Amino acid sequence: MLPGLALPGAAHGQRTDSAAIAAGTADARIAAGLRQVSAARIQANIEKLVSFGTRATISAQDPASVAAGRGIGAAREWIKAEFERYSNECGGCLEVRTDSFTEEPGERIPQPTVITNVYAVLKGTSDAQRMVLVTGHYDSRNSGTLDGSGDAPGANDDASGTAVSLECARVLSKMSSKMKFAATIIFLTVAGEEQGLNGSRHFARMAKEQGWNLEAVLNNDIVGGDKSAEQDRSVVRVFSEGLPAAATEQDVRRIRGLGGESDSGSRQLARYVAEVDWAYAGDVGVKPLLVFRLDRYLRGGDHSAFNQEGFSAVRFTEFREDFHHQHQDVRTESGIDYGDLPKFVDFDYVAQVARLNAAALASLAAAPAPPANVHLLTKGLENDSTLSWDAVTGAAEYEVLWRATTSPEWEHGLKCGNVTRATVKVSKDNVIFAVRAVDREGHASLAVVPVPER
Ligand SMILES: [Zn+2]
Repeated sequence: MLPGLALPGAAHGQRTDSAAIAAGTADARIAAGLRQVSAARIQANIEKLVSFGTRATISAQDPASVAAGRGIGAAREWIKAEFERYSNECGGCLEVRTDSFTEEPGERIPQPTVITNVYAVLKGTSDAQRMVLVTGHYDSRNSGTLDGSGDAPGANDDASGTAVSLECARVLSKMSSKMKFAATIIFLTVAGEEQGLNGSRHFARMAKEQGWNLEAVLNNDIVGGDKSAEQDRSVVRVFSEGLPAAATEQDVRRIRGLGGESDSGSRQLARYVAEVDWAYAGDVGVKPLLVFRLDRYLRGGDHSAFNQEGFSAVRFTEFREDFHHQHQDVRTESGIDYGDLPKFVDFDYVAQVARLNAAALASLAAAPAPPANVHLLTKGLENDSTLSWDAVTGAAEYEVLWRATTSPEWEHGLKCGNVTRATVKVSKDNVIFAVRAVDREGHASLAVVPVPER
């Protein structure tokens, strides 16, 4: 390739055939559920969120403004009512909760401000302590970070992500009457993102302090597929951290020694999303484009607040952002339309992103827990590789995965049956290994990279 030559559009969606390592076997009940995700409902939800005028974290939330339908308080009450409606439709299967706290003044918080995260919990059937979570931020902003009264429609950023959490709640709660989700699924919408990730930081700390076994966090922020000419609506970016934010000095030493820079829990989660897409491609549409970095240049998001507390978390974002439509006052200047308005959002695209999220959440929640204590024996010099792990409740078999050290995704899978130790005729010096648990119906857990055992 010539220096400076732009890659053609197709190249970024490229993936090795190795990703044929699907996340288990496609489940017809999950596939049927994905088809229930509705672009029309997503459109209605985004337009409803925009109708509150502004959802700035520092906008009004007193009873009068809630009654008048303007400000973040009104948005919060509507989201809560919407989750409750889904719960009524599934016989009370969702528990709707709020996580409310007062944020003290800071750079973007001029006075003590009550911030409320709203979430719905679909309790797991047999392993409720295990949790997977989808989130989006319902707060918005315009050009001024301290403007609590001017319009801030936030259709793409991030009514789109909020709509993904809501639609996943609606569809997966219905799905739960047809199949068992062993693990708990949490549908979260947070506030305070634009002021400094305040809501997600509070929620992630609560999860850490309460010892939650939170296995996966899917953060959807700017998934509207802005209708600009250069947009590629066939892909959605999935960002994941390499070196974990919460890694200790000792962790970093081990990672450096073993070449484990691309094997954080968040990265296994990103690979899982790609594998799920492989299993349900026909029922999803959009393709995940894995980006192996925490986030975009100069930008951050709620997934990093979860990473800080040691949880695996990834960020979904459209392929190409239009910065005229983000964090801008609504206006026309020199013939350019500024502002984050619904007319720039592609609701079919948001629905496809919601399907990808729903497929990942359903697969993870239906699957057994990832194996614990996965070890790679390194006692002697040998060219075979022996791995061991603890048995997992609900697992029917285990799969050893491996890939070249230079490969982004798992390339090989070896089904080992219901054992807790396997020897593979591949040198551990040349590849990276992992183990995952699979249940009788073919639902696969997240992959776990072994630690060396001497
Ligand atoms: Zn955002």
